[in-house]
Amino acid sequence: MISVEEALNKILAEVSPLGLEKVSILAALGRVIGEDVIAGRAVPPKDNSAMDGYALRSEDIRGASSGNPVRLDVVAEIPAGAAPTKSIGPGQAARIMTGASVPEGADAVVRMEDTRAEEARVAVFVEAAQGKNIRCAGSDVRRGEKVIPRGEIIRPAEVGMLAAVGSSFILVHQRPRVAVVATGDELADIDETPSEGKIVNSNSYALAALVRECGAIPLQIGIARDSREDLNAKFRAAQRADLIISAGGVSTGDYDLVKAIMQEAGNRMHFWQVAMKPGRPLAFGALGSVPIVGLPGNPGSSMICFEQFIRPAIRKMLGHGNLFRTAVRARLGEPIRKKEGFRDFIWAMITRDKDGYSVMTAGQGLGILTSTVRANGLIVLPEEITAVGPGEMVTVQLLDDPRSLLSYPRD
Ligand code: AMP
Ligand code: MG
Repeated sequence: MISVEEALNKILAEVSPLGLEKVSILAALGRVIGEDVIAGRAVPPKDNSAMDGYALRSEDIRGASSGNPVRLDVVAEIPAGAAPTKSIGPGQAARIMTGASVPEGADAVVRMEDTRAEEARVAVFVEAAQGKNIRCAGSDVRRGEKVIPRGEIIRPAEVGMLAAVGSSFILVHQRPRVAVVATGDELADIDETPSEGKIVNSNSYALAALVRECGAIPLQIGIARDSREDLNAKFRAAQRADLIISAGGVSTGDYDLVKAIMQEAGNRMHFWQVAMKPGRPLAFGALGSVPIVGLPGNPGSSMICFEQFIRPAIRKMLGHGNLFRTAVRARLGEPIRKKEGFRDFIWAMITRDKDGYSVMTAGQGLGILTSTVRANGLIVLPEEITAVGPGEMVTVQLLDDPRSLLSYPRD
C-alpha cells in the first residue's frame, strides 16, 4: 500500500501536457493558454483624454481660479477617434472628448465642468498639474510586455486583453479525451428498467461529468461485464483516449478482473492500493501505452478518487499551472473517529461565517449519493490522527469554488 502523495506522483509522472492548437480568442474561453502572450501594441496606443474638456498647456493656467479665470483661444475640436491636426501653442486650447488623442503641445486636460465656453475662447477656472486627465500611451499595457502567462485559463477578462493587444488567435492546449468504463454484472443502463439485483450505472455519468467539468472530453464506453472477454473488448475501445478511467472491479473479489487485465502482457500495473479511505483499492497502470486509473465502484469513492488523482492528471495534460482545487481550514462542528494510517476524505458541507469557515459532514445517516449531492466540500483528515473533535480545525477541499474550476462546461 502506498501513500496518497506517492500515488499522485506516480500518476502525474505518466501524463504530460498535450500539444497546442490555434484557436480564435473567443473559442479560447475556458481553455488553458499554451504560450506567453506578449503585447503587440501599447494600450492605450496614444496619450488620450480621460474627460470631456479642454486640452491645454498646464503652465498657461497657473493661478487660474473661479474668481480669476484664464482665457484661452480654442483652436481645434477633437472628437474621439480623430487624429489631432493642430498643435497647441501658448494661450491656446482644444475642445477634446473622452478617449480622443491629446494634441501636440498640450500636457493636461481640464474637464468641462471647470470651464465656460465663450464663443472662440474658453474661460478656465482651475489650475491643472502636468498630465492631469491624460491617459498616457502604454500606461495600461506597454508594447512588448507579457500580459498573460502560459498555463492560465482564458476568462472573459483575458479575451478582452488579447483583443486589446491585437492577438486574434492564440495557442491553447488540446483537450484530453478521457474514456470512462463502468464495470460490473450488477449494472443496468440508465434507460433500462433495472431487474431484480441490478443497480443503475450512475458512475459513468458522474465521472463523465467530472471529466467535462475539468475541461476534458469524456468518451462514454459504457458497461463492461465482469468477464475478461468483455473487459478486454471495452478496454480496446477505450484505448483511443489519452487516459482511461474505469470504475469497479479493483477489490479483492473473484470478479474483480481490472487488476488482472492490467497485469496481462502488453499492459502494466504501476500500483494497487492506496492508504486512503475511501479509495483503498485504487489501481493504476497502462493498457498498451494508455494510462488507466482503476477507481473503486462505490459512487462516493470513485468521485473522491477522481478529485484526488484524475483531476490533477487532467489539469497537467491541459497544461494548467495549478493542478489542485482550493483548500481551506475550517472549524469542525462534530466529532469524527478514524483509523490510523489512512488519509480520510469525507463529503462535507462548508459555510463561511464572520469567523472564517465552519464544516459539517454531509454523510451522517444518509445514503452515499445523497451526501455527494448535499456536499460542497471534502474534509481531509491526515493519516496519523484517530479522532477530531468539535471546534478543531480541519482541511477542506472546496468543490464548488469557481476559481478552482478548470474550464467552463462546453460541447
Ligand atoms: P466494486 O468496486 O466493483 O466492488 O463495486 C462496489 C459497489 O459500487 C457495487 O456493489 C455497486 O453497488 C457500486 N457500483 C459499482 N459500479 C457502479 C456504477 N457504475 N454505478 C453505480 N454504482 C456502482
Ligand atoms: Mg464490481
